[in-house]
Amino acid sequence: MKGKLYVISGPSGCGKSTVVHAVMAKYPNLRFSVSATTRPIRPGELDGEDYFFVTRERFDEMLRDGELLEHAEYVGNCYGTPERPLQEALDSGLDMLLDIEPQGAMQVRQKRPDAVLVFLAPPSMEALRARLFGRGDTSEELIAKRLEQARWELQQARNYDYIIINDAVENAAREFLAVITAEKCKTADRIRLLKEEH
Ligand code: 5GP
Repeated sequence: MKGKLYVISGPSGCGKSTVVHAVMAKYPNLRFSVSATTRPIRPGELDGEDYFFVTRERFDEMLRDGELLEHAEYVGNCYGTPERPLQEALDSGLDMLLDIEPQGAMQVRQKRPDAVLVFLAPPSMEALRARLFGRGDTSEELIAKRLEQARWELQQARNYDYIIINDAVENAAREFLAVITAEKCKTADRIRLLKEEH
């Protein structure tokens, strides 16, 4: 049976990557889809693991050659999901997780109607502001831009299948795992198993 495609979106600073790691640790069949981006690599990141860090020229080439399932510009940089490795993983039965922003998520919804879209929200704007400042690695100008972006992203939550409030990592991870379990039990998928077995 083919794997399932999950999308997670949520504003910068809402703790998305921590939740994603906690979910993947508990459910190893879920793998992270590595995006291509034109943004500079950050300390601690690995090329090919966190992202494929590419030039603008290479990104445009990928776009032109139809290599990307979806793409978007976010705070001045381009991001996109390479389709071939994603499809190969799904075909081999792995469930795949795309950590992408809402414009990209809506493109996935159009092209892959069976994808499951999950929105991770901070408990409040105040909590988000505190987390962004707490990181201490970004300028006030960039934080202001991210907060503005976050307000827009929160308005997009209504277009997702599930909303998880990240009040605590363990709770958010547990809810995400519950979504995965529920999706596995969906009749449309299970009925096929019944037909195969009976
Ligand atoms: P960051 O630069 O902080 O790693 O990511 C910035 C934003 O880009 C995050 O909201 C992240 O979810 C989003 N993002 C990462 N990869 C992709 C992608 O392939 N496509 C789209 N549309 N957004 C992405």
